[in-house]
Amino acid sequence: MSSTRYERQGRVAVITLAHPPINGISAALRSSLLDHLDLALADPEVQAVVLAGNERAFSGGADVKEFGSPLALREPRLPAVIAALESSPKPVVAAVAGVCMGGGLELALGAHYRVLKADAQLALPEVKLGLLPGAGGTQRLPRAIGLEAALNMIVSGAVLPGARFKGTALADEVVDGDPLPAAIALAGRVVDEGLPLKRLRDLKVAEPQAEAFLQFARNSVAATSKHFPAPLKCVDAVSLSVGKRFDEGLRLEREMFLSLMNTPESRALRHVFAAERAAAKLPDVPDDTPLRTIARVGVIGAGTMGGGITMNFLNVGIPVVLLEMKQEALDKGLATIRRNYDNSAKKGKLKAEQVEQRMALVTPTLSYDAFKDVDLVIEAVFENMDVKRQVFETLDAVCKPGAILASNTSYLNLDAIAATTRRPQDVIGLHFFSPANVMKLLEVVRGAKTAPDVLATCMALARRIKKVAVVSGVCDGFIGNRMLARYGAAAAGLIDAGALPQQVDGALQAFGMAMGPFRMGDLAGLDIGWATRKRRAAEAGVAMTPSVADRLCEAGRFGQKTGAGWYRYEAGRRDPLPDPLTVGLIEQFRHDRGITPRRVDDGEVVERCIYALVNEGARILAEGIAARASDIDVVYLNGYGFPAHRGGPMLYADTVGLPTVVRALRRFAAEPGADASWQPATLLLQLAAEGKTFN
Ligand code: NAD
Repeated sequence: MSSTRYERQGRVAVITLAHPPINGISAALRSSLLDHLDLALADPEVQAVVLAGNERAFSGGADVKEFGSPLALREPRLPAVIAALESSPKPVVAAVAGVCMGGGLELALGAHYRVLKADAQLALPEVKLGLLPGAGGTQRLPRAIGLEAALNMIVSGAVLPGARFKGTALADEVVDGDPLPAAIALAGRVVDEGLPLKRLRDLKVAEPQAEAFLQFARNSVAATSKHFPAPLKCVDAVSLSVGKRFDEGLRLEREMFLSLMNTPESRALRHVFAAERAAAKLPDVPDDTPLRTIARVGVIGAGTMGGGITMNFLNVGIPVVLLEMKQEALDKGLATIRRNYDNSAKKGKLKAEQVEQRMALVTPTLSYDAFKDVDLVIEAVFENMDVKRQVFETLDAVCKPGAILASNTSYLNLDAIAATTRRPQDVIGLHFFSPANVMKLLEVVRGAKTAPDVLATCMALARRIKKVAVVSGVCDGFIGNRMLARYGAAAAGLIDAGALPQQVDGALQAFGMAMGPFRMGDLAGLDIGWATRKRRAAEAGVAMTPSVADRLCEAGRFGQKTGAGWYRYEAGRRDPLPDPLTVGLIEQFRHDRGITPRRVDDGEVVERCIYALVNEGARILAEGIAARASDIDVVYLNGYGFPAHRGGPMLYADTVGLPTVVRALRRFAAEPGADASWQPATLLLQLAAEGKTFN
């Protein structure tokens, strides 16, 4: 099937982009567009051309399915197609509705006239993929809407409605309805009145203070884009529209585009973009799996997690029944939800009536009777198997058949939880991250018996509440926390060896982590890990391995909530202050264990902690707990503050080179008394030996 349609309407040829879902500019679309343009130019009866999309999209830009494939580079490339439109001897009018982004907008900028629907969504979002618009966008947009407006759009990638461009050379007309009839009428007028073929390339950028403005822009962009080269390159490219001839500007823009394409930062951002889309697809659950209806949700536990989880549903208009054991806990949980909304209202993010609308969607309860008609229940009670068992037994007794029963457990065995019910096929893990109303990640834990439609329903629900969902199999800690345990152990090992918390945190933050492991521990509460270590030791029937972390907890230092943990905190403040008492505890610990402290450099901190993540990630992949390496990256980027410019731990390992990772791990594993987990994972060894990568 052709990706563009051709139709004659009297003396106007209408070329319609027809490549669902959003008219991505594929190689096939580019070549069929050019063929249809040639057809129109060759037909003596055709006097003008209208280029249109559909209601949903003029075009969303490059076809993501062809990203990185030879098709993306196949001739005719986009700049050639745009040049053909722009140099057409017959007038070309673009009719723009819906999404008009990236290459789609660049295409529209090549037309002589444009009719925009008022609510069309226009953007040049290439910067979000570490790129700049590479098909004339940086040269034509400033000529169309002025230097400052164009620069803001290109540097931010922001989406603006068609109505915003009224009165600029970007919009010859702005209409409320379908732009196609208006575009056909305009084409007719251009012919009848002999109006000129307006080419944006012929305009001059009007900006008297261009140089001063560009210098100001460079300074402010540099200050806010430290890990990313693309935003500054966008400024450079746009500045060419002022000083250079159009063709020279185009040539240099293309050069800059291609050089950005080869940066690790752009590679990382494009990886993230593709990875998040891939994570939504489940290899063995077909796209057309019928979904269960989720119109009403129950949440159990109104503590740290339950409250935040509840807000996700209220935010999108789904009513929630919230259950607690005691009225006091229920009141406290509700008050926290209201306070969060009130804070958003104070910042102007919500209107007062929206706060009330959302609060009105919660039904607080102390009785499971209220769960009779809910479609999904999410349990967020204490992390204790006996408590969870009781909760699921009760749910099994009261919930209607087909209701989905979910646990927010961080570590517990989901299959064991499912086994406490007579409907394990309806049980699933929905592991939110704290604060649950803010963090983007949702680990969807698939039990051995979880039904495919339950899984598909939860993935669709995740999209509805605007989460990035990744499916994990069942293991201790699932994808994210299981890897985090190795990362934490590596960090703790560095303290034992001679480093201090502030050095380890500093090195990892310089690498790009949002927060170092010890700051993160203080924030989450050190008592949680302590309880887990005690539970594991008890389950395994062994003594706990001594650790500085346990000594901190024994001293009542649980982190921010007790005013001290690895760091100390002044009342009402959250900045971590180095604490001589912690240093004392660490030194005593080393002394008791007969450790002579050594110098640890920052490079070693990063190697040990990040390679520990990679090594456990490889095991998780080999065991099928994660379906793809990129799923692991999505977890770390959205749930653990891993820096986007590095694309996640697995892509980072690919970038460093797997043989390099293996050599370092072997070195760590060979140290006296080294933990067995430093042994390189079999999959890692195999990929490194075969010269392959994770992604
Ligand atoms: P929390 O202690 O803040 O809240 C638990 C709430 O559950 C309390 O309000 C308690 O009164 C209530 N509760 C306990 N037993 C109950 C019962 N039988 N019926 C009704 N209510 C009951 O704990 P939290 O941090 O919100 O953790 C809840 C769950 O979420 C745990 O499984 C935990 O592992 C998981 N989780 C926590 C985090 C986190 O960062 N805190 C992150 C992800 C997952």
